[in-house]
This record gives sequence, C-alpha cells and structure tokens, in this order.
Amino acid sequence: VLIALRSIASLGAIARYFLLATLASFVVAGVCAVVALNHLPLNAATYQALELALIVELTFLGLALAQQARRHQFAGARAMHLACHDSLTGLYNRRAFLDMAKPLWSNAQRNQRPLSMIMIDLDHFKRINDQHGHDAGDRALQASAELIEQACRAGDLLSRWGGEEFLILLPETDMDQACLFAERVRASLEALGLPVESKSIMLTASFGVAGWELGESGDSLLRRVDDAVYVAKKAGRDRVQAAVPRG
Ligand code: GH3
Ligand code: MG
Ligand code: MG
Repeated sequence: VLIALRSIASLGAIARYFLLATLASFVVAGVCAVVALNHLPLNAATYQALELALIVELTFLGLALAQQARRHQFAGARAMHLACHDSLTGLYNRRAFLDMAKPLWSNAQRNQRPLSMIMIDLDHFKRINDQHGHDAGDRALQASAELIEQACRAGDLLSRWGGEEFLILLPETDMDQACLFAERVRASLEALGLPVESKSIMLTASFGVAGWELGESGDSLLRRVDDAVYVAKKAGRDRVQAAVPRG
C-alpha cells in the first residue's frame, strides 16, 4: 500500500490499480485469518467471498500490468520517433534517411527503375543567423523544410541531411524530372520571404541534382550531388545544378 501510495504521483493509473489490487488482497488475507481463527465458518458464503476478492485482486493486477505495457509501448514509439527525426524540422534525420533509402535503392536496382537525388543547401545561412539571430535562423530552417516537404510526392524520401542542408531521394524520377522539381522548389523558396519583426528574410538555396546510373553506388550518387551543389555555389548560388555524369 505504501509503495502504491508513494507512486501515484509518478505512475498514476498503474499505481491506483496496484493499490486496489493490494486492498483486495487484504480482504482475502483478512477473511482467511478470520476463518482460520474459527470466528467464521468455512461455508459456501465465505468461500464465494474469498473467490470474489481474489477475482477483484487479479483483475486490478491485470489492469496495472496492461497499463504498464501501454506505457512502455508509448515510450518505445516516442524513443523511436526521436531517434529517426530531426527535432527542429520534424524531418527524417541522416541515419533514418540512410536506413529508409536502402529498399528504394534495391528496388531501383532490381527493376532498373529511374531514381534521382537532390541536395539542397541554403545560401549564406550563417549571414542570416548573424543578421537576424539564431531563432530567426531556426524559423527559416523550419519554413524551408515545410516548403520542401509540401513539394515532395508521397514516395519521396526527404531528410535534414545536415545543418542547413536537405537531401531528397526521388524514386521513379529521372534526372530531367528531378531538375524540374528542383527548379520549382528553388523558385518557391526564393518567393517565400520569411517575416521577422518588421522585415522579411529572403531565402535562397543551391541545388545539386543527379540521376542514378546503372551500377552506381549510393556513395557515388551522393558525391555527385554534393559536387553539383559546390558548382552551384561557385556559379553564384540560388540555382539548380545538374551533376556531371559518372565516368
Ligand atoms: P553557403 O551559401 O556557402 O552555403 O554559406 P552558408 O553560410 O550557408 O554555409 P556555412 O556552412 O558557412 O554555414 C552554415 C550555417 O548554418 C552555420 C550554422 O550556424 C548554421 N546552422 C546550422 N544548423 C543550424 C540550426 O539548426 N539553426 C540555425 N539557426 N543555424 C544553423
Ligand atoms: Mg552547407
Ligand atoms: Mg549553406
């Protein structure tokens, strides 16, 4: 009873069920003691009272266990969500992206289907933080993530790859389609204008786009989009750069 009472604040329903089960067990023990001391006859009525108290005890113990299991399940799902998602934008993190890319990758390889990758790196983001503060930078990241997510199709895999970088894997999408998609996102981002105090922060990004080539490894595709982003930056930023073909 003491354990249950002390745990009610932290465990809630589990502790309450445990308390009720414990009280029912007191009834069982009490009736047994009274019968043993010959103050009550062991007849059908006392027997049924014992049975009833035992059923009550077991029911509450069962409820406590079920509640405990639900609590663990919820905690597990939450831990899983935190391990796979970036807490600022809610997008998949790099680890989840790499895990989830595997089946998409295998499917493209096995069935020789088109697959593209787009890397997006926000331009001069350090300057945005310096000029408007880190909180405004965070909001700019959230707004960018939301805009990109809304542009993606259901089967696309989007992640926050790094600080101000996003990576998308687009199944069933060839290089030309991926470039069109990237250009659409680039234009929307440029038109976004994030309100901060009385001003509006203008966001732009540089895009690297590569279409998967037969026999190419994931690392190679990633290297090609990364190199394409680098070229886009060098060429003046706020643009979509198609990756150089392999070879
Ligand atoms: P470039 O156009 O060449 O990409 O310039 P850049 O300033 O965007 O690139 P750089 O790599 O120099 O700086 C990235 C900046 O992104 C620096 C870092 O403070 C900022 N950043 C990374 N993660 C976060 C974040 O979670 N929140 C905020 N507010 N800023 C972040
Ligand atoms: Mg960067
Ligand atoms: Mg950047």
